[in-house]
This record gives sequence, structure tokens and C-alpha cells, in this order.
Amino acid sequence: MTKPDSPARDEPGPVSSSVPVPTSAGGGPGAGAPYTPGEIVVHRSFTTKRLVFVRTGHVIDHDERGLRLWIPHGCPMAVELSADGRGLRDMPFAEWVRQPTVMTTSIWRGPNIFMLIPTRGAHSVWWFWDWQGRFVRWYINLEEPAVAWRRDGLVGVDTTDHDLDVWVTPARTWEWKDEHELAERLAFPEHYWVSDPDAVRAEGERLLRLVESGAFPFDGTWTDFQPDPSWQTPTSLPPGWDRPRA
Ligand SMILES: [Mg+2]
Repeated sequence: MTKPDSPARDEPGPVSSSVPVPTSAGGGPGAGAPYTPGEIVVHRSFTTKRLVFVRTGHVIDHDERGLRLWIPHGCPMAVELSADGRGLRDMPFAEWVRQPTVMTTSIWRGPNIFMLIPTRGAHSVWWFWDWQGRFVRWYINLEEPAVAWRRDGLVGVDTTDHDLDVWVTPARTWEWKDEHELAERLAFPEHYWVSDPDAVRAEGERLLRLVESGAFPFDGTWTDFQPDPSWQTPTSLPPGWDRPRA
């Protein structure tokens, strides 16, 4: 069985991030920038066209450094699962690509995430704290340059995950994560959403030069972040969460 919307390998991706930089108050370029702190956001991942993962968050802030989101433990989410409730990582990719799948709503049980979506670049950077509030690591998520959108009062950010990631410690030691997944999936080019693994790795290596020099965003910025205590985590995904990709 072939999924009806397997990625088209000749489909060009954006060459730079489309999260627009805000200008003066009252409007900016693109779809609804600037974003207002406290706004609810749906952060969504696609294969190419097929929605596979959604979480809600709040806009922390938005400036020339990028758009920052707070995606807390306990937020509503949806994930693509097989009919028997398994996920992409619960079986070999060869088996996954033959599964009928369904978007299934649930609650994010992972840690709080502070996410920086830069104005340029095929990645986002995530900050993590332990449950005592101590900053414990950064995570470089390699992904297609995110596209932010605003429709019918809802703000969204859409991307395609590139699977390869990097963990970075506060001491700026680092390690690649999920190299094996990238390698396994590349063997199925008719189903896989990453078409240029060398570019994915090169983007990771570009970020690692910033890590090793202690440059922004790996210079301690936002490691003491605290979310606004007035922010209410929604109890369910807002209407429009499953609209077509921006
Ligand atoms: Mg990833």
C-alpha cells in the first residue's frame, strides 16, 4: 500500500525561513507578523503535505532573533498513529510506510519546551530545564525553515522535521541524535521527506560552530526564562489545527 501523499522529491522547499521579522507596531511583512506575546500557537510538522504532529504553545516574543514559543508539558497535541496505536518510532520504517494512519489527539507528556524559530535557517533551537527549574540542555532540531501563518484568528508554524538532531549540554559538549533514523529512512526515498541529507548535516555543523564558540543562541540567553504565570494551557486543540499546510 502506498500512502496517497508520499513526498514528491522534486518539490522545492523554501530556501530561507519564512518567519517574518516584525517591523513597527501595527503590522509587518508576511502573514500577520508581528506576533503578540501570549498568543496561542499551533506548532505543526508535516511529511511534505501530510500533517503528522501538532502541539499548542504560547508566543513568548518575536524580534530579529526569531519567534520564541513556549510549548508546555500538558498541552494538547495530535500525532499520526497506526490503526493499532503505534507511532513512527515504534516499528521499522519499512513497516511504517505500509500502515494506514490516523491523527490521534492526546496530551504532551514530555518536558516544557522553549523553542526559538530563527528568522533564517533550517533548524529550531529548544531549551530544556529539569523539574527543579535548572537549565539542563539545548536541542538543535534540524527541520525545513518554518513558515508562520495566521488564519481566522489562529497563529500557526509549519515545518517538516529532518529527523537528525543535536543535543548540547550547558558546558557546550554535544552529540548527534537519531543518525540511525535518518539512515534507515533514506533507504525509502519514495516515502521519505528528507531529500538532501548532506544539507541537513551541514546545517547541524553550522550550528555546532556556534555551540563551540559559545555564540548566540548558545551564550546563556534565555536559560533563566520563566513563562508568564497568567498563560492558560488550552484544554484542546483550537479550531483550525488541522487546516492545510501554509
Ligand atoms: Mg528532529
